[in-house]
Amino acid sequence: MMQNYLDAMSLCKWFGYPDYFITVTCNPKWPEIQRFIADTNLKPEDRPDILSRLFKMKLDSLIKDLMKNSLLGSVEAAVYTVEFQKRGLPHAHICLFMHSDYKLPTVGYIDRVISAEIPNKDDDPELDALVSEFMMHGPCGSDNPKCPCMIDNKCSKNFPKTFTEHTSVDENGYPIYRRRNDGSFVEKSGVKLDNRNVAPYHKLLLKRYQAHINVEWCNQGASIKYLFKYINKGPDRATVAVVPNNNADDNDDVVDEIKNYYNYMSACEASWHIFKFDVHFRTPSVARLPFHLPGQQNVVYGADDDIEDVLNKQSVSSSMFLTWMECNEHNKEARKLSYVEFPTKFVWKLKDRCWKPREKGFSIGRIHTVSPNVGEAYFLRILLNKVKGPKCFADIRTVNGHVCATFREACYCDNPNLLPLHNPVLTNGIRRYVLIFEIFEVVNKYISSYLYFLGIIILTRTRLQNRDFRLPNVRVSSLTCSKRTSLYLGHKNLMI
Ligand SMILES: [Zn+2]
Repeated sequence: MMQNYLDAMSLCKWFGYPDYFITVTCNPKWPEIQRFIADTNLKPEDRPDILSRLFKMKLDSLIKDLMKNSLLGSVEAAVYTVEFQKRGLPHAHICLFMHSDYKLPTVGYIDRVISAEIPNKDDDPELDALVSEFMMHGPCGSDNPKCPCMIDNKCSKNFPKTFTEHTSVDENGYPIYRRRNDGSFVEKSGVKLDNRNVAPYHKLLLKRYQAHINVEWCNQGASIKYLFKYINKGPDRATVAVVPNNNADDNDDVVDEIKNYYNYMSACEASWHIFKFDVHFRTPSVARLPFHLPGQQNVVYGADDDIEDVLNKQSVSSSMFLTWMECNEHNKEARKLSYVEFPTKFVWKLKDRCWKPREKGFSIGRIHTVSPNVGEAYFLRILLNKVKGPKCFADIRTVNGHVCATFREACYCDNPNLLPLHNPVLTNGIRRYVLIFEIFEVVNKYISSYLYFLGIIILTRTRLQNRDFRLPNVRVSSLTCSKRTSLYLGHKNLMI
């Protein structure tokens, strides 16, 4: 799950924030299903295999409409995740990253794409029927306290919304869609639902797919993390316990608790997995790029493998990472790219264990994440996001022609101001404090730099008892950072 979330975030890094968030739900009343069970006593849920296959076909068609046929405009990238409710029907959450020409430039454009009102019955009876059937939320609240959306006596989806004449964006960046108080309503379970209960939809998509298709505009920074966590959170799960009869005479006592617990999976979800349909989908694809410190590549071997054979394995001498550096040696084009940019122009051929120039398609790279606590590997990763065309590990450690002894030092030399935030010994609280301090420091750039510099010089001169002591520029910056770090940590022994 975490890897999928990080892949989605890589797309975000490359293409910016997604523009639309679309949720499409399987409709058991689709004519294809109704035709299939017409002459039988079956209900749609009796054939979860058919439901799964049909939903997959509709979903593929929807993605084709969006990506190839540009129904909402030209799309750069898309991500979707398929989920299953506890009762079983599949639904998919789709994030669309639009081409810059098709992003909605102002709030005024939202109304042209997304509606959140009951349409006029006389103007478009088909759309009116579809909105009434699929897009009305509720009744919930006091009219139906048992509605599944109700949590702590409140609708978890915040329906009914409020009437508003114009579409706007709230202070958190969430859109507030136009919902005019025009007297139109739909009656459901004896309750009149008006424009405040309409889930936002796209007219053409609703007509074409005849299912619950919620379309939301989501071009805001605040919700992006939540969104990707949400779409990658995994399916609803329930744990089922098989409990033995608890008779008083029953004394044979040892209960295998592990055996008695099973994870519940709906029939639809089970058939989805049996058909090997994708649960996560991304386009363009994200190439996960492993890396390692010198001589520390992963080696997979069996308990009985001979050590010589293991070490002579091709995967040891030509890891994806080492081969990238090899490729830089003989390919001029390769040297123009950093490791993370490499998959855009080159393809990893697993069979031959080498990188070949890309002939078609497009893929973006993501370097595996590592914790700051691992030290050198963490600093190597920082450098890999930037360094272009290195032919060996020493090249990665080279900053402005100077070969640094460690990756950590290379990071210091390359960008000393960044370092306090990445220091592995800092806790999040301190890191936040450092960040505030850094912002403050930018404002007071000249004053603070001068004071730090002066402080270090005086302290060093006193300690070394050398009044003429001078520090080289690079060293000054790195020492300044170290000193600040020590101060935040309350260390008494300063680093110089
Ligand atoms: Zn509700």
